[in-house]
Amino acid sequence: MAKLNFCRRDFLGSLLGGAAGLSLARRGFGQAAPTPIQATKLTGHIALLSGDGGNIGLIAAEDGLLMIDGGYANRALELQKAVAERDTHPVKLLFNTHWHGDHVGSNELLGKAGVKIVAHQNAKFWLGRKVTMEAFNSTVEPLKPEGLPTKTFIDGGKITFGKEKIEYKWFPNAHTDNDTWLFFPAANVLQTGDLFFSGAYPVIDYSTGGWIGGMAEALDKLLKVGDAQTRIIPGHGPLSSKGDMQASRDMLHTVYDRLDTFSKKGASLDNVLKANPVADLEPKWGQGFLNGERFLRMAYPSIAKHAQLAKSGGTHRVSW
Ligand SMILES: [Zn+2]
Repeated sequence: MAKLNFCRRDFLGSLLGGAAGLSLARRGFGQAAPTPIQATKLTGHIALLSGDGGNIGLIAAEDGLLMIDGGYANRALELQKAVAERDTHPVKLLFNTHWHGDHVGSNELLGKAGVKIVAHQNAKFWLGRKVTMEAFNSTVEPLKPEGLPTKTFIDGGKITFGKEKIEYKWFPNAHTDNDTWLFFPAANVLQTGDLFFSGAYPVIDYSTGGWIGGMAEALDKLLKVGDAQTRIIPGHGPLSSKGDMQASRDMLHTVYDRLDTFSKKGASLDNVLKANPVADLEPKWGQGFLNGERFLRMAYPSIAKHAQLAKSGGTHRVSW
């Protein structure tokens, strides 16, 4: 496969539709006709915006808006129009759940306008440099300086935005090494970023610290946030319940246990693909976003990559 080089605006769509040769048309993740941006009201002042990129949380205060993630860069203006249709106040704060281009596409547009951008310090690290993503045989260019986070954190924190008190927390190594989830206790809404792909196999970016064991553990942790009624904004997929999350958690643990057995025997990726240890999961999980083969090509190498990372001192951390 030719090595591809593209900017972040086409990030996940290009990775999955072009570079990795996947068909995502059914789920509308950045291929063919763009999926219209749709808004779903969750409470009087919280909405979910969805389109081609990752899901977006929008929180309204009396004097401005908080956006959690920002879709693709090539739809950033369209997204701002959709936001303005809901609320004419300006976006005051942008939060990035992690560094991927289908979530940080509004950074440059809003950063240029002086909007503060908050992200985990590792997200800023990856956003500021060219990143080679081995699983996709691709490189991603750095954001322009105005799109970089203006405030970073290490473990998490709390924001009070308007009437909403929001807790946010980093999960060390799962989808990447900079995944952050946010919980709105009063509204009982949880936004997971890409720690949770609802109803589909998740992307695992092992080149920036992700691994399947972490994805499975992250859902163990997130299942304990809130209660049985908590409404969940996943990174991708529809507004979800704890039941949906439990199903993903069970699938990920099953796959991890099976792959770990192969890994301990020293099996090669080709051996694993030949054995196809996800054949029984395919009807439920492999029909839309990633098929089983593509998922195994990310999930299996992620185990060895994580072991290497652990040996070299754990997750990537930078002081800013
Ligand atoms: Zn992602």
